[in-house]
Order: sequence, then structure tokens, then C-alpha cells
Amino acid sequence: MFILESKDQLEKAIIKAKKQRATVKFIAFGVYQVSGSKGNFYTVECKRGEHGEKIVSCECKAGQSVKSLVCFHAVSALALHTGLARQRQTA
Ligand SMILES: [Zn+2]
Repeated sequence: MFILESKDQLEKAIIKAKKQRATVKFIAFGVYQVSGSKGNFYTVECKRGEHGEKIVSCECKAGQSVKSLVCFHAVSALALHTGLARQRQTA
């Protein structure tokens, strides 16, 4: 799990996400499933914290680590999520 503060922290994961071409499945607003490197799927949740902070959590090993690593699943899901969030705001 990590708190999204700036786009800079996503850069490395974005590069990896582009290479992996992960499939993102929409489950619900804020809940997505992203394909892993072995064809498995990981659930990624994007939500707002108590103070409006953007919290992203992924169930893969990297996403669960205490180092709050940004994995490519999270970035792939975020790309879809931010697009949907924008649509909601303008709707
Ligand atoms: Zn992950």
C-alpha cells in the first residue's frame, strides 16, 4: 500500500507497466484486477483516506511490502481509475 503524493514516485512503475502491457479489469469504481507477469490477476484498490489522501493498495508481494513499493499493477489500475474519476467529476 502506498499514498500517492506525486507522479514522480510512479515513474519507474509506469515504464514497467508499459513493457508488461497488463490487462486491467474493472470490478467496481476503485477496485480493479490487473494481470501479473504469470497470467494471474491481482486486485488493486484505489481509495481516498480520511484526509483526502489517495491510497492505493495491491495484493501482490511488492504491493504488500512495508517499503510501500509502487508496483506496475497499481500504476495500471491508477491510469484507469484517474480517467474514471475525471469522468465522474465532469458528469
Ligand atoms: Zn502489485
